[in-house]
Amino acid sequence: MSASIVAIGDELLAGFTLDTNSHWLAERLRLLGFPLLRMSTVRDRESEIVAALRRDIEEPEISEIFCCGGLGPTPDDRTFAAVAVALERELVIEESVRARIENRVIRMYEAGLLDSAELTEGNLRMARIPAGPSEVFRNRRGMAPALLYELEGTRLFVLPGVPLELKGVFAEEIEPRHLAGRTASAVRELRFQFAVEARFYPVLRELEQSHPRVSVGSYPNFETKELVIRCLGQDEKEVAEAAAVVARRMA
Ligand code: ATP
Ligand code: MG
Repeated sequence: MSASIVAIGDELLAGFTLDTNSHWLAERLRLLGFPLLRMSTVRDRESEIVAALRRDIEEPEISEIFCCGGLGPTPDDRTFAAVAVALERELVIEESVRARIENRVIRMYEAGLLDSAELTEGNLRMARIPAGPSEVFRNRRGMAPALLYELEGTRLFVLPGVPLELKGVFAEEIEPRHLAGRTASAVRELRFQFAVEARFYPVLRELEQSHPRVSVGSYPNFETKELVIRCLGQDEKEVAEAAAVVARRMA
């Protein structure tokens, strides 16, 4: 079983913002034993978000989807509306989220950061979520909540886009409660100085046949002149074997 990421935001596709959320999540998910099948990046358009979510929900190999971004207070934040369409659910005010936002607004008003202690339409947007989440996670660093929807065969996690908020809610709430207990993918790396990449072709070709469940990649670094051959897979023994074959042949 695999996972997927759907990162949402015009700024990612226009090259203004580097998608560090997907990079961070991909590493953590690998270490947690949830290898990724796919990462997609989509614009802040409802129909495009819906299409990306549906594609991953319908993919039988994907059992966890992590979508991030677009939960905020402004009209360009459309993720909740899109999730509602993708899951065919209504948008409803989640009382626990509304109450938490209200408290936060009051505290910000008291600290002189806001002109009014009244909830705005923008604030309320973040509490209007697709009905029936299995869990509403506390976001200590921001107003928008993180959510879990359990569908048939798929768990959909909805995460805030602000990197600090995403990392916080993932590491503090989601990981310990929902992603613990698996073992990380196995990784073996071999390093060769001044190696000619083409010489590795036969052995990598052979490994595709003999160890189909291990992905073997060749990653040259043109600055250090070092070539990394990296073997990655779910089975520790198979990965170690594949690495040993490369080491033996290329010694
Ligand atoms: P909030 O949690 O505040 O409601 P949000 O979920 O609406 O935020 P966005 O409005 O999409 O998130 O983005 C908030 C900020 O985080 C923006 O500065 C945006 O560029 C940045 N951001 C969003 N997605 C990513 C990403 N995938 N990688 C890095 N930064 C991101
Ligand atoms: Mg956005």
